[in-house]
Amino acid sequence: MIDTLRRELESGIGGEVRFDRVSRGLYSTDASVYQIEPLGVVIVRARGDVVHTVEIARRHGVSITARGGGTSQAGQAIGPGLQLDTSKYFNRVLEVNVEERWARVEPGVVLDELNAALRPHRLRFAPDISTASRATVGGMIANNSSGARSVLYGKTIDHVLELEVVLADASIAHLRALAPHELEAACDGQGLAAAGHRTVRTLARDCAEEIERRFPKVLRRVGGYNLDEFVDASRPFNLAKIIVGSEGTLALVVVAKINLVPLPIAKAVLAIEFDDLLDALAATPSVLRHRPSAVEVMDRFILDHARESPALDALRRGVLQTDGPGALLCVELYADRPGDLPPRLDALERDLAGSGFRCRWRRAETPEAQARIWTLREAALGLSMAMKGDAKSLSFVEDTAVAPEKLREYIDRFLQIVRR
Ligand SMILES: Cc1cc2nc3c(=O)[nH]c(=O)nc-3n(C[C@H](O)[C@H](O)[C@H](O)COP(=O)(O)OP(=O)(O)OC[C@H]3O[C@@H](n4cnc5c(N)ncnc54)[C@H](O)[C@@H]3O)c2cc1C
Repeated sequence: MIDTLRRELESGIGGEVRFDRVSRGLYSTDASVYQIEPLGVVIVRARGDVVHTVEIARRHGVSITARGGGTSQAGQAIGPGLQLDTSKYFNRVLEVNVEERWARVEPGVVLDELNAALRPHRLRFAPDISTASRATVGGMIANNSSGARSVLYGKTIDHVLELEVVLADASIAHLRALAPHELEAACDGQGLAAAGHRTVRTLARDCAEEIERRFPKVLRRVGGYNLDEFVDASRPFNLAKIIVGSEGTLALVVVAKINLVPLPIAKAVLAIEFDDLLDALAATPSVLRHRPSAVEVMDRFILDHARESPALDALRRGVLQTDGPGALLCVELYADRPGDLPPRLDALERDLAGSGFRCRWRRAETPEAQARIWTLREAALGLSMAMKGDAKSLSFVEDTAVAPEKLREYIDRFLQIVRR
């Protein structure tokens, strides 16, 4: 059966089909603690390859797990059937509309490469995840990713305009915002796309109260299908929003039309050192009132790992005012005019001075000083994940979304559990 599957896949595909042991081994892991060896790997070149793969896999009753950069931390990029890799070839930027601020891209485009192509237009795709150098837009859509600046820009779902997808019956659907009369038309018919529109419309209508009551009201919630996007009848119905966050379980994205945002004009960072990590977390709700573009914390564990590399240690000493703070809270502000930043920094500092927390701060107003802070964060986090010796960092509690006002208590109790 496997030989037939491989031969059928190979006939008429523009990309690559790999069933050898090495390839299957390579594709058996992502960035999670799990490992599942796939039957084989299809490295697609174009949408026709995706349709071809779905048709054949369907006939053979074999599952498909799409894969972009494979940086997922919960095992959603690995599976026992076919791995469908978009990152090698299926990665072009198809169209950029600077005036209307959108782009059409293939799913395998890597975020950093997309943003490099957009930079001459002073635009970018807003969700700025820390794996931007290897994660793809397809993976970001399926995971509903968000990054350091989610307090300003939200999540990927807030920036997906339209999707072209391949459904389980190998049909192609174009999902976009529909006016009420268009939704009626989309719900009519026999195909899977019509069934999808009908199902989501019915669920959102019949369960609106339950969805409203039960869906957590936290910005970074990414778990589950996004039915909450469909309960407000005054907003256009856009089935693309149910694909976002579905981790490849509903459809395979072949083209995404995404929203773009302008690059910031002026930026400043306030690096706040706290004696105690829990104080840094307790200060976050009041920091958020100053409309930051990013709030990132580095605890002592991460900061101490910077000591392992002489270059990074020099960076650490340049950023910090004391040798071993409990935490460093980095608060970034964006503004349309450079002159708007100093009064906002003054106000934030006044709040901190009156907060009663044991903390001190320093402004980073030049691009170089800001780059030092973000470089320290990225490199020290990386080092802490790749510890020397037998003790290793292990990610096992992923993507918890906690309301800022509960963050201090959450981490306090979490640390107590881990220390037991
Ligand atoms: C150190 C580290 C830091 C991270 N930081 C962040 C962060 O700041 N923010 C964040 O949100 N995440 C973060 N992540 C998680 C991960 O990097 C992101 O979710 C990223 O967007 C995944 O992209 P990817 O291309 O690697 O997707 P993959 O891991 O390859 O796939 C992710 C999911 O998308 C599906 N998929 C891929 N392509 C398609 C397609 N064309 N159609 C349908 N489904 C598809 C896959 O089947 C899978 O379910 C981090 C991970 C690591 C290891």
